[in-house]
Amino acid sequence: MTKPPMLTAQQALDHLLSHAKAVSKIERVPTQVALGRVLAEDVNSLVDVPPLDNTSMDGYAVRIADATTPGQMLKIVQRIPAGSVGVQIEPGTAARIFTGAPVPQGADAVVMQEDCTVLEDQIDQVQINITPSSGQWIRRKGEDLTAGKTALVAGIFLRPQELGVAASAGLTHLNVKRRLRVAAFFTGDELALPGEPLKPGGIYNSNRDTLLACLKSLGCDATDLGIVPDRLDATRQALRQASKDHDLIITSGGVSVGEEDHIKPAVTAEGRLDLWQIAIKPGKPLAFGAVRKSEKLEDGEAWFIGLPGNPVSSFVTFLLFVRPFILKLQGRDAIAPQSYLMRADFDWLKADRRNEFLRVKINSQGGLDLFPNQSSGVLTSASWGDGLIDCPPSQAIKAGDLVKYIPFSALLS
Ligand code: AMP
Ligand code: MG
Repeated sequence: MTKPPMLTAQQALDHLLSHAKAVSKIERVPTQVALGRVLAEDVNSLVDVPPLDNTSMDGYAVRIADATTPGQMLKIVQRIPAGSVGVQIEPGTAARIFTGAPVPQGADAVVMQEDCTVLEDQIDQVQINITPSSGQWIRRKGEDLTAGKTALVAGIFLRPQELGVAASAGLTHLNVKRRLRVAAFFTGDELALPGEPLKPGGIYNSNRDTLLACLKSLGCDATDLGIVPDRLDATRQALRQASKDHDLIITSGGVSVGEEDHIKPAVTAEGRLDLWQIAIKPGKPLAFGAVRKSEKLEDGEAWFIGLPGNPVSSFVTFLLFVRPFILKLQGRDAIAPQSYLMRADFDWLKADRRNEFLRVKINSQGGLDLFPNQSSGVLTSASWGDGLIDCPPSQAIKAGDLVKYIPFSALLS
């Protein structure tokens, strides 16, 4: 049997991304339900935000020319709560004003109420106890968004704050890419679902919950096709079912080249497949290919990515390879996860020849601690940790070294 080619993580990623083309279908959805969608087109603001110069403090709107020395008395001639508009301010006068209210014409500063005195027997006068500077406590018209200018750019993943920006721009609806449809199934005769009794030699299917949740956090429509036994016919049948209504099929387990590993022959029979060895740890075997949607070529194919079965390996390979592939299919702009140079507060002297992804956690001194058991079967390492160190091949880590840290939060959005 020929051994699959050995690729670096970068080679595998480049290969995957060279195939992924963004879905073209666009849907128009209400802004409030656009969370987790990918914006399909740039959107322009319908309004200036804020719409007028307004005050960021409760206080008094004044002309600085009237308050050049502390202690100046000004006549209070108008009161402007948020939501109403005052009138031109005349020399020697001030406007009582409240946060969010438009600054009246002629005023060029706001003095916060803590810097003013109003005497009980002279309530129509305010004493300005400071010399205000021009523009103080004034939020300028359009300083956040300008009418007609881009408020949000195509390709961004819509988070809560983007929905808020769209709403402040006056947009009731957004044009987004249709959701990616991803089917997942899990191979292994040993697998059982939580709630079922475990037979001897059995283990619970943890990859189902990890991987489906990963898909959801990336904004995919995820279909669970359940556990598939280690048989060629069952695997082929699951692939045929999965390919129909999905853009991408992901599986866990069965991607090695042993007698009980049926992914390779099954995908090859239903489409095409490359089986790779990737020089990473955890991870290593990864399968990439496509499954025909029907016997008719013109019906197209669904992409296929087969992940290894070990729970940490399938999680890490999902984050490193499936996530960027999905982001590119979704039409997202930023694909590479944000990483940071951080200090290791541990020694890792048994450097591996492979590129290792170590589960670590940020400590209260701002350094990284290592989970003691880095086995690919120990999923609690990923739950304890809050990210991965991307450790280059054959590189030992000494306490104090700066290392490349990628938080899970950057890999799950
Ligand atoms: P495989 O890649 O099929 O050779 O599986 C490698 C290891 O991962 C074996 O110990 C399997 O029992 C385990 N494994 C495979 N699939 C799952 C799963 N869905 N949940 C938990 N462990 C799994
Ligand atoms: Mg297996």
